[in-house]
Amino acid sequence: MQTENFRVVGHPLIRARVTVLRDRETGTKHFREALHEVAVLLAAEATRDLEVVPRHVVTPLAPCDGVRLARPIIIVPILRAGLGMAEAMLKVLPEARVGHIGMARDERTFEPRSYYFKSPAGLPDADVFLVDPMLATGHSAADATEALHQAGARRLTLVCILASRPGVAHFSTRHPGIPILAAELDDTLNEQAYIVPGLGDAGDRYFGTH
Ligand code: URA
Repeated sequence: MQTENFRVVGHPLIRARVTVLRDRETGTKHFREALHEVAVLLAAEATRDLEVVPRHVVTPLAPCDGVRLARPIIIVPILRAGLGMAEAMLKVLPEARVGHIGMARDERTFEPRSYYFKSPAGLPDADVFLVDPMLATGHSAADATEALHQAGARRLTLVCILASRPGVAHFSTRHPGIPILAAELDDTLNEQAYIVPGLGDAGDRYFGTH
């Protein structure tokens, strides 16, 4: 599937760790570790094109021209499954600030309902990464993106582990200009709006609540 703004990373390390996440035999400890590893690798990809500005340093041997990131970074996990991804991404983006968006889904209609929004100041000047392991129907991520836009975010990327075709289609229709980065793409959703083959409920498997 190719929409202009959607990209599957397709890196062998990521694919191997996503297979661990998908395996129903994987317990909480290994699920958490694999999710962290995938999130770190996705963070490297998601930040590949960030603007940098020159920074001059002096090494123990000589002056050297380097760079620093041009803008602050804000990571915004969608609760609750996005928390694990955000925690891992902070390992490679330790200076990032973190917002939170709470979305619960109505178990009958599967429509998301926003119950929490808190973001650091400075959204308009930051590179913002909205993170949710599962882009299923795409409704939560699209609503969260709308909330971030309303709060002033201008440079936003959606980072997920598994995306579904219907989810990508829905999100891209509502937010055609926002890049989506995913570890893998699955074809369908089941009647409960779970991604198939997917990996099950990411939050339950990450927090051991299943
Ligand atoms: N949320 C999940 O955790 N898993 C899915 O398959 C869909 C939404």
